[in-house]
Amino acid sequence: MNIKPLDILSKYYGYTSFRNGQESIINSIINKKDVLAIMPTGGGKSICYQVPALCLDGITIVISPLISLMKDQVDALKSMGIEAELINSSLSNNEYNQVLDNIENDRYKLLYVAPERLDSIEFINLIRNKDISQVAIDEAHCISSWGHDFRPSYKRIPQFIKRLNKRPIVTAFTATASDEVRYDIKSILDLQEPDVYITGFDRENLSINIVKSSSKNRYLLDYIENHKNESGIIYVATRKEVESIYEGLLKRNYSVSKYHAGLNNEIRKENQEKFINDEIKIMVATNAFGMGIDKFNVRWVIHYNMPQSIENYYQEIGRAGRDGEPSECVLLFTPGDVHTQKYLVEVGIDNPERKRIQYKKLQQMVDLVYSNGCYRKSILNYFGDELEDKCDNCSNCLNEGEVIDKTLDAQKVISCIARMKRSFGTTMIIDVLRGSKNKKVIDQKFNDLTTYGIMKNYGAEDLKTFINTLVAHGFLEVVENMGVRGSYPTIKLNEQSMRVIKNEIKVEFKESKVTKSR
Ligand code: ADP
Repeated sequence: MNIKPLDILSKYYGYTSFRNGQESIINSIINKKDVLAIMPTGGGKSICYQVPALCLDGITIVISPLISLMKDQVDALKSMGIEAELINSSLSNNEYNQVLDNIENDRYKLLYVAPERLDSIEFINLIRNKDISQVAIDEAHCISSWGHDFRPSYKRIPQFIKRLNKRPIVTAFTATASDEVRYDIKSILDLQEPDVYITGFDRENLSINIVKSSSKNRYLLDYIENHKNESGIIYVATRKEVESIYEGLLKRNYSVSKYHAGLNNEIRKENQEKFINDEIKIMVATNAFGMGIDKFNVRWVIHYNMPQSIENYYQEIGRAGRDGEPSECVLLFTPGDVHTQKYLVEVGIDNPERKRIQYKKLQQMVDLVYSNGCYRKSILNYFGDELEDKCDNCSNCLNEGEVIDKTLDAQKVISCIARMKRSFGTTMIIDVLRGSKNKKVIDQKFNDLTTYGIMKNYGAEDLKTFINTLVAHGFLEVVENMGVRGSYPTIKLNEQSMRVIKNEIKVEFKESKVTKSR
């Protein structure tokens, strides 16, 4: 085993250097350490287990969830002259037997196996005596029921490993960084003192823009008109809205297709292929679209709605600019997006604990949207990765908007909440501050409070944005309460709120003015 990783990289892949993080991961593996590597989509995970597979004696088994993804990878490896094969449900009996023969004769360095195939007795009896250097688990978050893509078949992996005569190095790769998922991967796969790497999350070529806009359609149409000849994806929260945006663009003769879980498999596949092959330029889709899609020239991703977590957001914008060329990501935000996502959590998740976690993730996404600092820095921090300076390639860094002192308005909101005594939702607080004659307000006698109507000059939407911004900056807190009709959020004061009231700290927000467009 004297072949150097870098030699393999240049000999087979034709690349001259490793990307940030790849080399350390590879070194851990060839030093026989288990590894958990968290890298974003497009970050170059495959090389991290493929290069060690070629350095080490014996065979590497790669477990991967998607048949199409496996085929692409194996085809690519074969075209580079690497002995690789796959076992999944697409093989005929004859083909399967042929592969088993070849395993018997030690013909492969890499064998991709679908998790469903791991308990085939024939396969296990054959492979358990072979020299297996590494079992690499791609998309390892599929093993966790906390993950966004839980696959029960992944639970077969630990059993499979136990049945082998000798325990190989076990390596796990994922783009999902949440603590719960990370914990599950380590414990369910029984990784032995793994080296854990969180790396490569920074995608410098993506510009990150968050636009708080109430005229999303206008923005979208202008944007598309200005980027006509480029490939782009529009992510939308619901199937219904995918349909309506798709129809709208089709009517205007744009080269557009659509993708969501309500379309049958055939159509989804056809639409996806057209997009990948550049037969159509724009894909309008829900978050069902994108896993495993290796299209390099996606120049922009627009989020028509705020996604439900920073993980989802980063994964989705990560589909832009895989060729390394500058690409633009725009998130169009209105406070209504928060309602939509809450509704989707409410109807989509039964388990109360999962629901609570999802709400927390949603709140972190909302906090990001309302934050003033470098968006990239906040996102990288979220994933445990770091950025030293601000990026100068996100709308917060590039926004010349001036910082405005909002202490007085913040004090009005806080003292109103304090006077309302019990904890209420944003709508009620806004009603009181704007002096609404709503029955609920009158019933509670909130019209007697000195703070009743003190923010009449604010529009309801603006006041909502302001309160959300206070939350995002930690001057107020959101609590989720369980009620008979599901959970509902209320606003609560915290230590920071008290400091604002006592004039100990200032509340300063940056007013958005411009959003960069290429
Ligand atoms: P992931 O599995 O993390 O989504 P891939 O392994 O498919 O990402 O890698 C994404 C792209 O980056 C691939 O085209 C791959 O060949 C390329 N790539 C990976 N590592 C390097 C490298 N060191 N130098 C240049 N290109 C690389």
